[in-house]
Amino acid sequence: MKHPKEEKTFVMVKPDGVRKGLIGQVISRFEQRDLKIVALEMFQPTHEQIHDHYPKDEAWITRLGEKTKSTYEKYGYDLIADFNTEDAAQIGPEVRTWLVDYMKSAPLVKMVVQGVHAVDIVRKLAGDTLPYRAAVGTIRGDFSIDSPVLANKEKRAVANIIHCSETPEEAEHEIQHWFGKAVLHEYKRFGVDE
Ligand code: ATP
Ligand code: MG
Repeated sequence: MKHPKEEKTFVMVKPDGVRKGLIGQVISRFEQRDLKIVALEMFQPTHEQIHDHYPKDEAWITRLGEKTKSTYEKYGYDLIADFNTEDAAQIGPEVRTWLVDYMKSAPLVKMVVQGVHAVDIVRKLAGDTLPYRAAVGTIRGDFSIDSPVLANKEKRAVANIIHCSETPEEAEHEIQHWFGKAVLHEYKRFGVDE
């Protein structure tokens, strides 16, 4: 078993986060919660890198469609008018295509964040996937108001500032995908590691 302080998660500041000038604020929120940054880089991703980053299984793609569907139903918007279908399994692939386009639209900032329960704490600091639902005080809840009812009408992905791994297994896979053999740094945080 790894030491609890060695848990790592993968985070990217997405195009809207970079273009809104939020790189520093995103990092600050992790650091002020006693998490430490152990790898960091700005880069322009390739199509393949983004395409391979997001899961390709049907369950995950259908989940994207379900988020659209539940928001449209909750607020009384017309799925048929925007998608020609009410089937989440058919809406999902279209949303995934928009997601890949969105993620290539500006440079990204990728990082590895380490600390106790890093995966869950970073998800909590990020807030709900859909910014209109995200709690005030979270990154998405403080810096975005986006919703599928607007994004899907504009034929684009929901812009929600950052990406962060959902589970420790996903984190391990994503760190490998985005950092490969690059060195993750080691240092002691004042007040945390000593
Ligand atoms: P991420 O994986 O980016 O951290 P997440 O795990 O909270 O976000 P996922 O369900 O993995 O959310 O969705 C991946 C990304 O796809 C979201 O962050 C968002 O940008 C976009 N997205 C999700 N659902 C929709 C939707 N219904 N319509 C448009 N875009 C969506
Ligand atoms: Mg996700």
